[in-house]
Amino acid sequence: MINLIIFGPPGAGKGTQAKLIAEKYQLYHLSSGEILRQEAASGPYQEKISSYLASGQLVPDDLIIEMVEKIADIQLSTLGTIFDGYPRTLDQAKSLDRLFSQKEVSPATVINLFLNEAEATERILLRGQHSGRTDDNLSIIKERFRVYHQETDSLLKYYQEQNRVIDIDGSPDIITVNATINEIIDKLLERK
Ligand code: AMP
Repeated sequence: MINLIIFGPPGAGKGTQAKLIAEKYQLYHLSSGEILRQEAASGPYQEKISSYLASGQLVPDDLIIEMVEKIADIQLSTLGTIFDGYPRTLDQAKSLDRLFSQKEVSPATVINLFLNEAEATERILLRGQHSGRTDDNLSIIKERFRVYHQETDSLLKYYQEQNRVIDIDGSPDIITVNATINEIIDKLLERK
């Protein structure tokens, strides 16, 4: 069983790659953004969550940690999991590591998909033409990048110190990036 975190800025291709990886390796695809978009459509915190999503701000840790870990707690016992968009803060990362250790499963390896902001913005704007996402527009994209630099990319250091990060260039096309990731996962699985 293998657990992965797909990491990177908005627009790097995390969701697309996570879906392909989950299908190929039979992993549970846990996307915090998808969970929140569903909660924003219905659910007890509908209004509160919608306003965070629409503004590009992170949903508070207490709320998202509980939501994600409730699902991860069940999935980690049965399937390997790929975390997409989660964790995004140090508290989320530390809490998730505690969960891995409680469940006695291997802590996730981090696939860091890197892509520059200009290319990522272009991709999100293209996606925005049909995604229906309220946050796929230029001013919110800028805010999402600001939040990413302020809150999230420092997490890489936390994982690098534990030798858990594999860097992948996210700029080639979907199939090329996917082939590179698959090679890496195959090697990780051979080592197990
Ligand atoms: P994503 O689909 O990963 O681009 O996430 C869309 C939005 O959902 C983000 O801009 C945040 O508002 C919220 N979100 C997703 N994941 C998290 C997380 N791990 N922590 C806090 N907010 C999140």
